[in-house]
Order: sequence, then structure tokens, then C-alpha cells
Amino acid sequence: MLRIPCPWCGLRDEIEFRYRGDATAIRPAGDGGVDAFFSYVYERDNRRDWHLEWWLHTGGCRRLLEIERHTLTHEIRSVRDSAEALSARPAAAR
Ligand SMILES: [Zn+2]
Repeated sequence: MLRIPCPWCGLRDEIEFRYRGDATAIRPAGDGGVDAFFSYVYERDNRRDWHLEWWLHTGGCRRLLEIERHTLTHEIRSVRDSAEALSARPAAAR
């Protein structure tokens, strides 16, 4: 089982969380067209590498977290609150 260190609640079991998607996907502008939205919703790389993901702590603080997890080993390298993660990005990538 995956153990996730929530910055607010401490180390918790994966069952308390819900995966909320790829944190690297950037939503296209409203006039981006069907192809851009199709790619945003459905097309993902399936890499064996570090990956940024959104996880919601549904069984705890209910905060949305950005987690950097290795997709092969499931090791977690970093966890931070979504507000902190989004404020560090350029406005177009929020
Ligand atoms: Zn929490």
C-alpha cells in the first residue's frame, strides 16, 4: 500500500486519498479547439519516471495535494499543498 505524507495530517495510508489526475496537464484556452481538449483529457504519456499528480485527502484534511511520485517504485519525493504548487507556476499553467 502507498503511504502518503500529508503536510497537514502526517503519514497516511493511500486509502484515505483519491487520485485526481495528472498535475502536469495544462488546460487549453476556451478557444483551443476540439483536438486540444481531446489531448488534454485523454492523451497521457505512460512513463517509468517521476510524475506530478493531484491527490485529494478525502479521509483527512480534504486538501488537494501535488505529489511527485515515481510511477515504477511508487516512491514519493515531494508533497505540497495545491495553493503552494499553483502559485509557483506561470499564470498560463494554473
Ligand atoms: Zn491531510
